[in-house]
Amino acid sequence: MNAALCGKRVLSYRLQNHERLQRIGMLNKDERSFGRITGGVISSVVSRGNTILVALTNGANLILAPEYGGEVLFHKDAGPIPEKYHLRIDFDDSTALTVRLTSMGVINVSMRNDMASSYVYRRDFNPDALSPADAAFTIGAFADLLSTKNTSLKPVLVGKDAVIVGLSNSAFQDVSYRARLHPKRTASALDSHEKRSLYDSIAALINERIVQNGKEGFCDLYGREGSYVPAMGPNMKGRACPRCGASIEMLRLGGGQVYICPSCQT
Ligand SMILES: [Zn+2]
Repeated sequence: MNAALCGKRVLSYRLQNHERLQRIGMLNKDERSFGRITGGVISSVVSRGNTILVALTNGANLILAPEYGGEVLFHKDAGPIPEKYHLRIDFDDSTALTVRLTSMGVINVSMRNDMASSYVYRRDFNPDALSPADAAFTIGAFADLLSTKNTSLKPVLVGKDAVIVGLSNSAFQDVSYRARLHPKRTASALDSHEKRSLYDSIAALINERIVQNGKEGFCDLYGREGSYVPAMGPNMKGRACPRCGASIEMLRLGGGQVYICPSCQT
């Protein structure tokens, strides 16, 4: 997005079918806030965790967080633009961006001083949490944070109190399987070898997802679908563990479902 959008001036915006998003607080209650992006030039696009921050030269910021599904698509010419979107932005060079949420998520315009009022911004740009995409995500820093958490692994790695940002329940199942750790293990009780396994699994997962253009079922800015298939998750239901042959099991954990190999993950 940074490469495709920087330098583009916003000509106009359109919102549609956004009333439900407004009612549940996922889009500005006052849609006139979107008028602040009109005329602005995109100066940077950065992402952290699940949140994408599009900054404009006029001080406005577009905060996008397609939490559990959504499409952010760039349209290079005036060709057919999909009818389904929540936000469409037209630029003055006849290109366009559309954003559509298919589940929970956020589309918000905030001025620089108001960004902290956005829950997803506070959560994902929290400087106390590590981003696996940053250079600061080192084994030392990660191991130290794990040592402070006397709870099971899932809330330590996923959600608002996690020590890292951006890991979904899907990614959690994948990394705990790769690291051969049971999701109910206590973070602070992991030995140094186990912490290292978890760290390596997270780094490997992120790298593989990037190399394969994202997870299957999701698409990039140009509509190209990702091909990454999770090593563990609902796709493994009813199957045997490729490592040891045990039957994959489903656990209910923290209000969600987690698939595990009961033999490898201890
Ligand atoms: Zn196994």
